[in-house]
Amino acid sequence: MSSSQDTTPARPRRIVVVGGSAAGPKAAARARRLDEHAEILLIQKSHDLSMASCGYPYYVGGFFDDRNMLLCTPAGIVRDPAFYLKAKGIIAKTETEVTSIDRERQIVTAVDLRSGNQEELAYDRLILAIGARPNLPPLPGLDLDGVTTLVSMEDADFLRRVRDEKKVRKAVIVGGGLIGIETCEALHLAGLDITIIERLPQILTFLDWEVAKIAENHVREKGANVITSNGISAFLGENGKLVGAKLENGTELECELAVVAIGVVPNSGLAGRAGLTIGESGGIVVDEQMRTSDPHIYAAGDCVESTHRLTGARFHAPYGDQANLQGRVAGENAATDGNVRFPGTIGTGICKIFDYAAGSTGLSEASAREAGYDVETAINASQDKPGFMKGELLVTKLVADRRTGRILGVQCVGPGDVGRQLATWATAIMGGLTVEDMANADLPYAPPFSLAIDHSISTAHILQNKLKGLMRGIPATEVKRRVDAGEKLCILDNRGPDEYEQVRLGIGERLIPLGALRGRLGELPADKSQEIICFCKISLRGYEAARLLAGRGWTNVKVMEGGIAAWPYPRER
Ligand SMILES: Cc1cc2nc3c(=O)[nH]c(=O)nc-3n(C[C@H](O)[C@H](O)[C@H](O)COP(=O)(O)OP(=O)(O)OC[C@H]3O[C@@H](n4cnc5c(N)ncnc54)[C@H](O)[C@@H]3O)c2cc1C
Repeated sequence: MSSSQDTTPARPRRIVVVGGSAAGPKAAARARRLDEHAEILLIQKSHDLSMASCGYPYYVGGFFDDRNMLLCTPAGIVRDPAFYLKAKGIIAKTETEVTSIDRERQIVTAVDLRSGNQEELAYDRLILAIGARPNLPPLPGLDLDGVTTLVSMEDADFLRRVRDEKKVRKAVIVGGGLIGIETCEALHLAGLDITIIERLPQILTFLDWEVAKIAENHVREKGANVITSNGISAFLGENGKLVGAKLENGTELECELAVVAIGVVPNSGLAGRAGLTIGESGGIVVDEQMRTSDPHIYAAGDCVESTHRLTGARFHAPYGDQANLQGRVAGENAATDGNVRFPGTIGTGICKIFDYAAGSTGLSEASAREAGYDVETAINASQDKPGFMKGELLVTKLVADRRTGRILGVQCVGPGDVGRQLATWATAIMGGLTVEDMANADLPYAPPFSLAIDHSISTAHILQNKLKGLMRGIPATEVKRRVDAGEKLCILDNRGPDEYEQVRLGIGERLIPLGALRGRLGELPADKSQEIICFCKISLRGYEAARLLAGRGWTNVKVMEGGIAAWPYPRER
């Protein structure tokens, strides 16, 4: 057979992709790379294509000014219909909405939103990548001028105008999730007074409380206000314009702008009306090949229900990276009738919070317990690099299965390199690694990049010590609860006197520096079974003090995990 032989099939496969932001274009591009002859149509309701929605907060916050940077290739070419046709041979129709799917005839109906014209488009394979829509509570005043979301390019344009025009002074952000926190930073940088209102007792609810509190404290330090355990009950207006927000406890806050960011729900109505199976989370049910309940229809991205790789639970995981990976799999299988798999997700996410980042991968302690695991946890507070290379603090909480040592989840917060930590742990979780594996991991080391024992490895060491019974930890939350309850605890601060003068918790602790401890054992309880709690700045000296006391016969010595660096409450000094 000669290589110049025409390989055009008698009738090219027709692939229709609905949704043109993240998962859709990725699916269309993958299909094209695998089938040069397929007819590929990308139908997009919005005016724009391939919007980098994750970049909206940074456009609003003034990290860059050119709107087209949200839409262009790394070479600076805007991904419009002309680009798709020329570079990829994909016909993209924008401002066109698919309104129904006739599965029997394998036809979708599409409406041109400019002209109102309707057309029927036949498909051999259909890929639904229709995303999610904002969760909007039925609150009075939701339609007032000044109440918005940040989920579309139009929203980003509106909020960028707010920044540029400098007329708005006060804003509330409803919801302390990833998008709420990123929007808070963006609008704060735009010079607005911001209040975040979160109905639950903490922001960033994928984190355990004590880790989220460190992030919340940083938001406050940067000058934004955070109200927790209190929701919005109404938006207040005058002449159709927002002037305030009323909280569930009756408080009224003055504001001219409100951004509602209380999550998104899968946009699965089109699929539901066509009779495709919809899961309990509201997402389209797909198998590992991203195939829906109809073998000719695939779905990917924020419109689908995901499977948790650790628990097997079905849930909604609206993340941009997952949308792209799922789109790639859907595109390949739609083009080739192949069998490539997307095995599920572990819910890895990160967000920038002013000078900090916060994120998690796998299960939090709360969700691991809910899933029935017997968990052990460790908190590590240390730098990401040596001090002489301007190392920055990281506070990490590691969650593992006590029985097998398998790593279940990690949360990390701080000004250090949170992203690298989470990437390491996410890979460890997906590979099924244990605490023992991570305790001897071979990671890259040189001073500009990490410590000789990387922060992730020292975190594993703490949990390894706990699993071996070498260290008994006590969370800061428990210490605080017992101090507040009036318990008389024996708490030792093992730092030096200078440190104690500058920073002090004020919870009835006694200063006995580690270096002085052997000479001052007589000051400790004579009853060696009495509880003693040790800590220091990060609780490394606290751990050494605890080992020393255990070696001298005290049997109930605990280390307050993470020390002062992970203390989530106000301090005396
Ligand atoms: C402000 C913001 C910040 C974010 N930051 C991050 C982040 O840092 N990291 C991260 O992982 N994720 C982030 N995300 C989430 C991420 O953007 C989404 O997970 C991702 O965009 C999902 O891609 P998708 O293609 O499934 O859906 P979408 O991006 O929602 O795209 C779906 C498209 O389908 C179109 N459509 C819908 N219905 C129809 C129809 N009937 N006919 C034709 N077209 C239709 C819509 O117009 C839309 O453009 C962020 C999201 C937002 C809003």
